[in-house]
Amino acid sequence: MLVVMTHDVLVVEDEEDIALPLVRTLEREGYHVSRVATGEAALDHVDHEQPELVLLDLGLPDMDGIDVCRKLRSDGFDGAIMMVTARAGELDLVVGLDVGADDYLAKPFGLAELQARVRALLRRSAARVPQDTAVVTPSGLRVDTAARRVSLRDEEIQLTAKEFDVLALLATHHDRVVSRDTLMNEVWDENWFGSTKTLDVTIGRLRGKLEAAGATERVVAIRGVGFRFETGG
Ligand code: CA
Repeated sequence: MLVVMTHDVLVVEDEEDIALPLVRTLEREGYHVSRVATGEAALDHVDHEQPELVLLDLGLPDMDGIDVCRKLRSDGFDGAIMMVTARAGELDLVVGLDVGADDYLAKPFGLAELQARVRALLRRSAARVPQDTAVVTPSGLRVDTAARRVSLRDEEIQLTAKEFDVLALLATHHDRVVSRDTLMNEVWDENWFGSTKTLDVTIGRLRGKLEAAGATERVVAIRGVGFRFETGG
């Protein structure tokens, strides 16, 4: 059986040495790839073509990639955005996630890693579901945000309110990084004066319960940034 599915991907990168192998790799994967070298051209392209994924370099000649990302989101672009950055600073990554990027790739990166992350992002955007219904992960873990219930193969998993909130937020952003700040703000609130250690403890308990239930999902810590919910196996 041959299944043909073409995804439109936009590469925003000014350096030829980086852009060319990147474009070639994505084309070999079967994606329809366009490439531009400036922030202005990226905004214009997205406006006209509405690609499903934008790979966005942060160091562009005319605009900061962070501003391009913010502008894409404020213009209503709801496809996936992956920042590609040589800036190792954790602050940049957190800012990037806060302005609407879904994931990031640090330069230098391996092409195999690029392929895996792009596949994960495109799978996620194809499986997007409304917030008030159930999220079902590829392995069958069902997170019902309306009924606040979690089950795997019809077996309910008992979670505390905070464990549920953390899981629901991570699961609705499957394969994307959710920053620690977002988790703290959404699950706890601005009146919370306790330690962010609470988040780590809650994540630890959640991991234990998912594992005990036989789920193949993992909550992966992205050091200094946040967490990503992935389906393993
Ligand atoms: Ca650059």
